[in-house]
Amino acid sequence: MGDFVEDRWEWKLSWRRDFFDHEVEMVADFLAEIDSGHIHQSSRDVLWWKPDPNGLFSTKSAYKVLQEAHNNDSEDNALKIMWKLKIPPRASAFSWRLLKNRLPTRDNLRKRQVTLPSYSCPLCDHEEESINHLMFNCSKTRSLWWEPMRWVNRVGPLSIDPKNHFLQFSQWNSQTCTINRWEFLWIALSLSIWHHRNGMIFKNQPFIPEKVMDDALFHSCLKHLTPLNAIDLRLAPFDSLVQDALWRVLEIMKRDAEKDPQTNPNALHARRLINQVDRKLVKQTVMTSVYGVTYIGARDQIKRRLKERCAIEDDVELFAASCYAARTTLTALEEMFEAARSIMSWLGDCAKVIASTNQAVQWITPLGLPVVQPYRQFGRHLIKTSLQILTLQRETNKVMVKRQRTAFPPNFVHSLDGSHMMMTTVACKKAGLNFAGVHDSYWTHACDVDEMNRILREKFVELYDAPILENLLESFQKTFPALNFPPLPERGDFDLQEVLESTYFFN
Ligand SMILES: [Zn+2]
Repeated sequence: MGDFVEDRWEWKLSWRRDFFDHEVEMVADFLAEIDSGHIHQSSRDVLWWKPDPNGLFSTKSAYKVLQEAHNNDSEDNALKIMWKLKIPPRASAFSWRLLKNRLPTRDNLRKRQVTLPSYSCPLCDHEEESINHLMFNCSKTRSLWWEPMRWVNRVGPLSIDPKNHFLQFSQWNSQTCTINRWEFLWIALSLSIWHHRNGMIFKNQPFIPEKVMDDALFHSCLKHLTPLNAIDLRLAPFDSLVQDALWRVLEIMKRDAEKDPQTNPNALHARRLINQVDRKLVKQTVMTSVYGVTYIGARDQIKRRLKERCAIEDDVELFAASCYAARTTLTALEEMFEAARSIMSWLGDCAKVIASTNQAVQWITPLGLPVVQPYRQFGRHLIKTSLQILTLQRETNKVMVKRQRTAFPPNFVHSLDGSHMMMTTVACKKAGLNFAGVHDSYWTHACDVDEMNRILREKFVELYDAPILENLLESFQKTFPALNFPPLPERGDFDLQEVLESTYFFN
């Protein structure tokens, strides 16, 4: 540990392993802290109870410490973040119970004198079941939390205290994501662990970690599809999203397989993999794509799937093939998102063309409502009076070019959403249904929900069956005959009729 050098203690510490980047600062703090204490060669070590100024232990001071630890900040922070999330009440109630240790785990039942044949963890049967063990430390669940870390190529120890675990898990990754994806995933995963644990105890179902992860991803992934702000992603039910990715992966592989294996090593991989590629192989990568899965994360996922089915015996070959499959899947996903992006950037480009001639962007919604974007620059007017000079701010005739451009794509999409809601309202009234709505939430009486679901899907298809972008371009050309607009992005091949059958289109 160290030696006395000329009456001064010098620490000589050796470490069991190298530090992770995020630990370096902690180590520096630790070294500074142990260095700040003075160690004297002549005086003996004594035990000192810090919470009491006289250094002696008392139950009163211990009680105080425990109480402070109980009301600590991390719990408040975790709960504060959690209550702000837009998640179903069922999920927030569950997370509250989890963070406050209010779930009926076996240790909690024992504390309430409930007699059970066994109090040990139903998953591993090794330790008493507590919330910390069940969720974060059990051999069956621990690796479930490591897996998402691997998607983004991150390693490190996680706390087993629920509040700290939640903060650690979500904050480590919060820099890369703006819309609380990791918080959603944390809640979805813990909820899924709890459901599967209950399924095991009460319905005798097996606890399969992969199934737990799949369920968690499925629920948290649905949550993310809307904020992606991508017109055609929003239409596609989750299943056809995976289907679309799979179809694109196969297309790329077919192309590669025809190449000459002598000059192109991908040809070999493509030929070997083409019969192996199915929904299961690409599904996880598609679902994790919203978390910004890295190439390495995707490669590991695919490698594990391939290993499970013993598709390729040779380890080196397996690795190379996984690399190829991961690259192909990410390219396919990129293509899919590109389609949505190209529409958005086309809308922005058109707005820029209009605004740069100092005109406000205007259009007519499919229902015939004219819309004009009001964004104009402010100018100052000085008014001299006999007493003082007043400064007034008022709009000038100059449009704000940047604002006109950035605001147009979302405004246009909102105007389509508004049209959809109005069409649904009218149709519901005709069908004799009560209807209320705000932005994108539709309400009716519980007994009429199925009927409303049918109507809003029909109206959606009706609305988007029209050549919306073509009509927009035509109206731009009519309103601004002197301007040149960029060509329309290519139309996708999504079959709009699928919306009528889709479960998750609107839910
Ligand atoms: Zn266990």
